[in-house]
Amino acid sequence: MDNLSHVKRRTKIIATIGPACADETTLKAMVEAGMDVARLNLSHGTLEEQIERLGWLRRIADAVGRPVGVMADLPGPKVRLGSFDGPVELDVDDELLLEPGKGPSTGERFTVGYDSLLTDIHKGDRLAVGDGSIVLEVVDHTGDALKARVLFGGTVQGRPGLHIPSDRLKLTTPTPEDLRLLDAMVEADVDMVALSFVRSAHDVRRVGLEPAPRGPLVVAKIETRAAIENLDGIITESGAVMVARGDLGTELSLQDLPHLQKSIIARCISLGRPAITATQMLESMISAPAPTRAEASDVANAVFDGTSAVMLSAETAIGRDPAHVVATMASIATRADQEFNYEGWGRQLRRDHLNERQGADLKVTDVMTLATWQAAKEIDAKAIICISRSGFTVRAIARFRPQAPILGFSPEERTMRQLTMSWGATPLKIDRIDDNVVTVHTVLERAKAEGHIRTGDIVAVLGGSSGTVAATDTLRMVRCP
Ligand code: PEP
Repeated sequence: MDNLSHVKRRTKIIATIGPACADETTLKAMVEAGMDVARLNLSHGTLEEQIERLGWLRRIADAVGRPVGVMADLPGPKVRLGSFDGPVELDVDDELLLEPGKGPSTGERFTVGYDSLLTDIHKGDRLAVGDGSIVLEVVDHTGDALKARVLFGGTVQGRPGLHIPSDRLKLTTPTPEDLRLLDAMVEADVDMVALSFVRSAHDVRRVGLEPAPRGPLVVAKIETRAAIENLDGIITESGAVMVARGDLGTELSLQDLPHLQKSIIARCISLGRPAITATQMLESMISAPAPTRAEASDVANAVFDGTSAVMLSAETAIGRDPAHVVATMASIATRADQEFNYEGWGRQLRRDHLNERQGADLKVTDVMTLATWQAAKEIDAKAIICISRSGFTVRAIARFRPQAPILGFSPEERTMRQLTMSWGATPLKIDRIDDNVVTVHTVLERAKAEGHIRTGDIVAVLGGSSGTVAATDTLRMVRCP
């Protein structure tokens, strides 16, 4: 990989924490390699383990001197098979039984952790195991079990998920277990919470959290057919969205997946929410030292699609060298950021955005961020500085993908950590937001002291006219003193 360490990456990196990196030395190496957000996958490990990891990440962020976001990913109504005692090979046309229960699974009999299996699943249904590596077709109902035939064979091991089409699944999200885990993670001061198998905006509302930054930012995972149908409502209700390609690619046809990825990202960004592209991005690096050519292209293409962040799952959770995977992803994303069509993206967003929301609907933040993007471009500003309590304005300007660096100043620690997921944003801390004249002076001094801008640079500063105004209503173009 080329050394691009001198170039500032704009696309953020989320990495999943698992057994391969559950120690402070490896986690620190991952932060130094470019991990912006750590994902704690609550489908695995104990709650105590995950909370301990959160504590390590906070210490590492302090030591390294930059904020690291922590996202708790709730399991949702994910159905799993009882565990296999070692790897089991299944060939096409093999037959096996599926029965509800909690005991261990074997190659001939899978136990399924879903009580309504026999009533909800019918003859002819197709069920995917894991992320779709094995596909079964239900061929018969034997009274106390379902008989299934293997359509695509492969290896099963551990406690894999069984994908039941979401329109058949009676369980809703968040589950009672999700709410229990959520309470503990909120208590532990987590920054973002990902909600699995969301089907409607109502599912997001049922999480019942305080709005960010008082509560964690809610990330809706788009992985069901219903979520695609209710996309705008879900995005509006959420703080960010994840294109959860593993389950989405099982629920809908694979040939639709690249196009869904593009349209979900575009909708999400135009509504000012970060979009995450997830799953199998550098999958071969679980065991290989370099990605495949297709994987390198996948990461770059996600950047060109406008993703705010790219995510690593098993690559870092159980892979052979988590810090090396992060570094590899960072260099591919940095290179793609250089080739991104900034001008075209902003123009298209402006056209679609303004077409869509006319007259009174054009909110103050929309107008102010549009004006900032244009002004910064016209004058070739060296930076766009946002003074923002909640991070909302930073996310709103980031959607235009300005070429100038975005410096997001906030007095809230949690806002800074939530901005680690926002495209192009460098989170910086100020003590408080005062009157606009005083605050602009403070942020310019800080940005200069930290080497982001120099005396004589023209900078766009976006903020509120006073410390108490809720909306961003003031844009100043200033020459740095
Ligand atoms: C996915 O399905 O792509 C995903 C990110 O969710 P999980 O890893 O929880 O299955």
